[in-house]
Amino acid sequence: MSTGDIEDVETFRQRARAWIRGNLAPLPAGSGIGVMRAGESDEAELAAVARQREIQRMFYDAGFAGIAFPREYGGQGLTADHQKAFSEEISGYEYPADIQAPTFSPCAAVLLDFGTEEQKRQHIPAILKGEELWMQFLSEPSAGSDVAAALTSAVRDGDDWILNGSKIWTTGAWWSDWGLVLARTNWDVPKHRGLTVFILPIHQPGIEVNRIEMLNGNKEFCQEYLTDVRVPDTDRIGEVDDGWTVGTRWMFHERMLHNSPLVTIPADGARGTIRATHLVEIARDAGRLEDPLARDLIGEGRMLDLVTHALQGRLSRGLRSGRMPDQSAAIGRLFTGVTAARTTTLSFNLAGGASAAWTDDDGATAECGNDFLLRQVSCIGGGTTEMARNVVSERVLGMPREPAKDRGIAFRDVPRGASNRG
Ligand SMILES: Cc1cc2nc3c(=O)[nH]c(=O)nc-3n(C[C@H](O)[C@H](O)[C@H](O)COP(=O)(O)OP(=O)(O)OC[C@H]3O[C@@H](n4cnc5c(N)ncnc54)[C@H](O)[C@@H]3O)c2cc1C
Repeated sequence: MSTGDIEDVETFRQRARAWIRGNLAPLPAGSGIGVMRAGESDEAELAAVARQREIQRMFYDAGFAGIAFPREYGGQGLTADHQKAFSEEISGYEYPADIQAPTFSPCAAVLLDFGTEEQKRQHIPAILKGEELWMQFLSEPSAGSDVAAALTSAVRDGDDWILNGSKIWTTGAWWSDWGLVLARTNWDVPKHRGLTVFILPIHQPGIEVNRIEMLNGNKEFCQEYLTDVRVPDTDRIGEVDDGWTVGTRWMFHERMLHNSPLVTIPADGARGTIRATHLVEIARDAGRLEDPLARDLIGEGRMLDLVTHALQGRLSRGLRSGRMPDQSAAIGRLFTGVTAARTTTLSFNLAGGASAAWTDDDGATAECGNDFLLRQVSCIGGGTTEMARNVVSERVLGMPREPAKDRGIAFRDVPRGASNRG
């Protein structure tokens, strides 16, 4: 049954459920759990990405790609409620995790907000088909939290721009296709007023992608060196020097990830997190199900799950209806960050001796120690929780802004290390 042009949510849900069960593999218990765990090999990681592209294409062919994206760009033109229903139904089944973030949000979301008609028509359908994987070229070796302090420069040369600089902590750049880049186009104005956003193919002469190995062996992160990379002006997003307008929306979409109507993330949690149900498995495999302290820890994990779910729902409704300012997305980002770090700590505490040394047959307790060492990634990636606290205090609660020595000063004249550039 449908109302008007749009299929009603319940009918859509039934259709989605049948398709998911008929076409996607259920995830084995405990799969996808953990904090940025190392893959078996590069080949296995590439094969996993290839499978995700395939699933994304299956979504597209079945009419489930870009559920809330406009129809003119290949989306389904449905609502956030339809997307929510799909995300609920796909819980427990394989899904293209690495394509949804950051390709769909923030990158495709930024394209929808600021892209030209040609840019949207070129890229959005390709994204929805799994043909283009996008990454965020935002962080720099000398500017992470202070995003507006980017040093990567773009200099106009006829119809092109020439980019030079370095970006870092780019998740998955080595297997992705396109980057959304924040670059400095004007050094003679204060830092927020001299930035511009560009898009560029990652694998091309002038871009060197180096992988960074983390302490658990994960090599997902990359650092890129850009040397005289030529970008046509038609690949600029937004106005010249107005990259901060694009950038603030970009960061909004990044913080919104778990509430975004543009993203398929299983309702029972994104891959790579630890949930309370998994805490029970850890306690069982550690032989501690009857231990009152273990039960306390599991209870805390369950409480965090419930509060996260309720808070995200409230934020999502508030932001969609406009009752909450966009900056409130930082509340969700803050809470999911500290909660994920805490839940990882709970799993470490539950695992007992296996937290220090484990073997492959230790079941759910294996690698809890590794996860613990990496627990802070949830408080750093997507902007740090300290910055989220700043946003909440200054932009949501209206408290005084923190002092900044570079306010009102041309970026060229801001002291930074041994030498200034420009
Ligand atoms: C899992 C993960 C995925 C990531 N993926 C990407 C990606 O795909 N693309 C990308 O571009 N980047 C990515 N990053 C990088 C991430 O965005 C940055 O690491 C982050 O913004 C922090 O920047 P930084 O590492 O330079 O730390 P710094 O900015 O040097 O900060 C160091 C510490 O100081 C604190 N701090 C700094 N300034 C203030 C202030 N004014 N008030 C209070 N505290 C402050 C910070 O919160 C932090 O705790 C990722 C990071 C992680 C962990």
